[in-house]
Order: sequence, then C-alpha cells, then structure tokens
Amino acid sequence: MMQRFDEAARLMGLEESVMNVLKVPAKAVAVNLPITMDDGSIRVFEGFRVVHSTLLGPSKGGVRYSMDVNEDEVRALAAWMTWKCAVVNIPYGGAKGGIKCDPRNMSQGELERLTRAYTLSMSEIFGPDTDIPAPDMGTGQQEMAWIVDEYSKIKNQNTWAVVTGKPLILGGSLGRVEATGRGVMVSCRSAMAKLGMNPTESSCVVQGFGNVGSISAKLISMLGVKIVGISDVSGGYHNPDGINVEEAMAFVKNSASRSLEGYTGGRKISNAELLTLPCDILVPAAMEDQITLENASDIKARLIVEGANGPTTAEADPILQEKGIMVVPDILANAGGVTVSYFEWVQNRLGYYWTEERVNRRADRVMKQAFDSVHGTAQKFNTTMRLAAYIVALDKVAATFNIRGKF
Ligand code: NAD
Repeated sequence: MMQRFDEAARLMGLEESVMNVLKVPAKAVAVNLPITMDDGSIRVFEGFRVVHSTLLGPSKGGVRYSMDVNEDEVRALAAWMTWKCAVVNIPYGGAKGGIKCDPRNMSQGELERLTRAYTLSMSEIFGPDTDIPAPDMGTGQQEMAWIVDEYSKIKNQNTWAVVTGKPLILGGSLGRVEATGRGVMVSCRSAMAKLGMNPTESSCVVQGFGNVGSISAKLISMLGVKIVGISDVSGGYHNPDGINVEEAMAFVKNSASRSLEGYTGGRKISNAELLTLPCDILVPAAMEDQITLENASDIKARLIVEGANGPTTAEADPILQEKGIMVVPDILANAGGVTVSYFEWVQNRLGYYWTEERVNRRADRVMKQAFDSVHGTAQKFNTTMRLAAYIVALDKVAATFNIRGKF
C-alpha cells in the first residue's frame, strides 16, 4: 500500500507535508478484552480499531476476526479504506478494526460476548457520524447485529446507522450481498468498452468462487462473456467451451463441502494453472498476493479486474504494465460493496428503504463514474489505472485537507 501511495504521490507532485499527514492514521486504539469462555475460564483478547482519516466524512471499514490480526495490518487496511471511499466519491473516511481470535473455534456465545465487549470498548469511537464498522474476514451479518444491538443499548436508542452489512430484518440493504460482484461486472464492462472488446467474443477466468467470485462470474457471463475457468480452495476447473456459472453455483450450494470439489463441468487444474489460462479477462477474486513476480509474465489475459483485495503484488505491476495488460485495481473494482454499504447507511438515516432495482441502478452509476474518472486520470498522467486510482483518491483527500485548514 505504501509503495503505491509513494509512487502516486510523487507522480502527482503531492506536497511532502500533506503526504506525511496522509501516511499515518488519525487515531489508533488497542484494547484488551477479558471474556468468560464456555468452560468458565477467562481469556483476554486483543482488539484494535484504527481510524485512518475522517477528512471526507465518518470513517468506514470492516472488523476482522482472525489469529493474524495485528496493529500494523489494521493500519494498512484502514488507509486502504480511505482511498477506496475517495475513489468512488462517497462521503466517508477510512478505518479498520480487528480482534485477534479464531472464530471457527469459538462458540456462538463466546463470539457474542466478545463482539459485545469490543463494541462497548469502542463505543466512544463508533457512531453513525464518526466511525461505521462493517463485516470483514471472519465476521458477517450476525456480528453486525450484535454490534448494532449493543451500541443501541449503550446509547439508549436504536441506532441502525452505526454499522453496515446488517441482516435485512435489522436495517440491511437489498442488493448488498451482490454489490461487490456487481461492481466488478460494471468495472469489467467499462474496461471492455475502453479496450474495444466485444463481450460476446471474449472469454474470462475467475479465481475464487465465494461471494465476490461467483457473483462476478455470473454477472460477467450475463454480459455475453464466456467463462472458461473458475476455481476455489478445491482447485481450478477449465472448460474452453464455457462454464455454466449458475449450475456451478447450485453445485456448491448443494455440496457437502460447500465447494467446487467434485465439480465435473470443467477439466480439473491447479489454481496456479488457472491464472495463466488463455483468456481475455482475468478476475482474481479469492485472496491477496496471487499475481506475483513468478507468474505475471505468463498471464495471457489483456484485462485484469481485481475482485479481491491486494491480489497483485507491487513487484508484478511493472510486468503487467510492460505486457500492456489493463489492470482495474482493487480499490476501484471491488468498491461496489462499500458503495452499497453507504446506501445502507443512507437508508437507515432516511428511515426509508429502497427497492433492489434502485440500489443497483445507483451503485452502477457510482461505479461507472468512478471508472471513467480513474481512466481519464490514467490518460492525463500517462500511467496505470492503479496509480491513477491512487491519484484520484489522494487528490481528493489532500484538497479536502488543505481547504479545511489546520492547526
Ligand atoms: P469468500 O470467503 O466468500 O470467498 C473466497 C473464495 O476464495 C472461496 O471460494 C474460497 O474457496 C476461495 N479460495 C480460498 N483460498 C483459495 C486459494 N488458495 N485459491 C483459490 N481460491 C481460494 O470471500 P469473498 O467475500 O468473496 O472475498 C474474496 C476477496 O474479495 C477477498 O480478498 C476480500 O477481501 C475481497 N472483497 C470482498 C468484498 C465483499 O463484499 N465480500 C468486498 C471487497 C473486497
């Protein structure tokens, strides 16, 4: 994150003093939470919340439950959220939170007590006008429901807008589940138009078949693009004649392992082979660090749309650029999720709920405008879409910092 930040800042001639402000988080809180476990013992969990910036509005960012959580990682992810919100032009700053824990080995009761304790400890930071958490790795609708309930109890009033990614019944938004994949599709469609690619003559490979990967594959195939490869943790599946994505989704839903294990709609290959398959579009939508110094030169696609966060390493970027591959970067391509989170917050504050059609239409517009703005910036600075996305974001945040004034 810092490497690309520095490069973009240099390219756009960002003043050093402003750069130093935006490099560090505005606030970082670390807590230790004693929780009674089901066996009666007491365990202490480390929790973090880092607010990188509130220059554009209340800070926004997920809460991660994982044994790998540490303050450094949370700080980087918080800054990433600032850039992502700024790129799609929604009135939010960036934040991230996390608890060092292994949610798969905790009971529902233990997770509930931990989530409520975390919410209480962060109750002076969280707030609809200050800092709005959301789900991330290891957390989902249930944790958001506990956060909204605990926070509402502390404040003595129902405060739906304090968190997004809530269940529909508790003020969630229609369209949220599909939002990230939908934004990936809109980014892909916009990029194809710029590159003069005809969807019905193009093929696509998608890595990862969870929320983002499967929805992206489904919606991209609905553009007329042939999906020739899909994959998940069980491996890759290649079919040059085209994969029926809805059938594959139904397969996963009905399989005992909830994965593509045993899927026969394509020839089984490895995830490494999948990334270098012949295709026009590659959508990495699984995890970070997949396109690297080792495999970047073997990639055949001419367009990469980053559904996952950080799927391309900084060292791979120049290789892709050299090969003339257009990369729609993560902070733009997967920002459909945070955009609909923003719509959820807007609906909570209005007390009026939109139809799915309205959510989708508005989200598509936001994504299209963001794509065009980044593409225009890439041309102006004669640089990559990734650096252009950082330039768009940095420019907005820096200009806001300057106009707001300082001590
Ligand atoms: P998910 O857990 O629903 O799906 C992850 C998928 O990746 C699964 O199909 C899993 O089997 C697969 N996978 C895991 N390890 C793999 C490997 N080694 N090789 C290939 N596939 C592997 O997660 P998700 O919500 O779809 O998130 C995917 C990525 O998108 C993450 O990087 C996440 O940070 C990012 N993202 C998600 C959202 C969102 O709204 N869900 C928003 C922005 C960014």
